[in-house]
Amino acid sequence: MILNKKYDLLIIGGGISSCVFASNYVRDKFQDKIGIIEYGRGLGGRSSTRFSKRFKGWKLDHGSPNLNLCFEKNNLLKEFFDELLKNKFIKFDDSELIQLGNNLKKDLRDNLDFSIGNCFLSSSSMRKLSQNIVLFNDKRNQIDFYFETLVSDLEFKENQWILTSQNGDRFISKYVICSSNLLLHKRSMEILNKNYIPLRKAIPKGEDETIDKLLNILDKQLYIPRLTFLIYTKENYFYKDDYSKKNRYFILKEDLENKYKFERVVFQLQENNKLGIVIHSKSSEYVNDVLFQNNDNKIKEEVFISFNQLFKANPIINQLTGNEDMSIMRWKASQPFGEAVPLTLQFSRKYNIGFCGDWFEGQGFGRIEGAIWSALKLSEKFKTLK
Ligand SMILES: Cc1cc2nc3c(=O)[nH]c(=O)nc-3n(C[C@H](O)[C@H](O)[C@H](O)COP(=O)(O)OP(=O)(O)OC[C@H]3O[C@@H](n4cnc5c(N)ncnc54)[C@H](O)[C@@H]3O)c2cc1C
Repeated sequence: MILNKKYDLLIIGGGISSCVFASNYVRDKFQDKIGIIEYGRGLGGRSSTRFSKRFKGWKLDHGSPNLNLCFEKNNLLKEFFDELLKNKFIKFDDSELIQLGNNLKKDLRDNLDFSIGNCFLSSSSMRKLSQNIVLFNDKRNQIDFYFETLVSDLEFKENQWILTSQNGDRFISKYVICSSNLLLHKRSMEILNKNYIPLRKAIPKGEDETIDKLLNILDKQLYIPRLTFLIYTKENYFYKDDYSKKNRYFILKEDLENKYKFERVVFQLQENNKLGIVIHSKSSEYVNDVLFQNNDNKIKEEVFISFNQLFKANPIINQLTGNEDMSIMRWKASQPFGEAVPLTLQFSRKYNIGFCGDWFEGQGFGRIEGAIWSALKLSEKFKTLK
């Protein structure tokens, strides 16, 4: 059945920035109806959790495994993180972080983008963190969620936005938030099989200075592709020592990353006591090669060989036998890099359209911290609107 739905506000995407924005919005605008439209099966986007259909019982954080806060002097962010801690949605991440390769003199955590400042873990899974954030303030059930729905076209007509999904559903509202820049970026043409960028078509060049500047900058923004290999071990696989915290991180220094093509190896203890392993790779040539290869069995074999070589004679980590299962996440766009978008371009008053996500400028650019920061800033702007 084709849907035709009307809302006060529509949010495209259900990643963490969308959840933060929606949560703040319903706290202040307690009569508005909101629709969140997400292409995936659940909330969280690139900081979510794979609830595997094939491998029952496993919940692996397949994107970002945790979050860090560097910008502690920023009151808005600090207060938000304090509230997450107070509500027990997150806890301090005191997991062990081990660097493999040459030793560093400086404190290890200060040398890695993803571990600078204070690190936090979701109290359950990364997907649940986004759910907790958005549902916490939605006491009056103002938010409807549409999953497995890909918005592929935008139209602005008679002061209303009309969003059309790939299967023909229509969503109408006065205000729209894009929490992903897919519909603004040239990569949308390949992904959605179009010969135009949807937002450019909806707002032609010369109509709005903010949108023109935004699209110009985004034209130069690039994305890091990444792979995550999710390894589902057997009951008898565990560490050689008695470590029992949820996560344990191994970060490879440049020399080893070049050799093995792994950026980090994250061990994740499951509720059923099995030990999941998520291997991250961003080594560009290798990633590009695997992105377009379908022979997952061959890739698995190579990954297992590298893993066993990397951890050969390691005092903590056991070897893989080859009987473990593995699935691959192919992230064509894992993180933006290059030019970041200034926060001054977050909202077009003429078209009632706003933007948030990790693609905005600031210390958290390309990370969860930046995604949250941009959503908090956008909510501040929205408070002054109606
Ligand atoms: C493998 C990996 C590891 C990472 N590690 C870290 C880390 O250690 N620390 C860290 O801070 N960050 C890390 N990151 C980056 C971090 O995950 C992101 O910065 C953050 O999740 C971005 O959140 P967001 O809300 O801006 O965007 P997203 O999470 O991308 O949310 C946008 C959502 O919009 C949906 N969407 C897009 N277009 C449409 C459409 N047209 N219709 C419907 N839905 C749409 C997408 O499906 C997505 O769910 C990692 C990312 C990856 C992929």
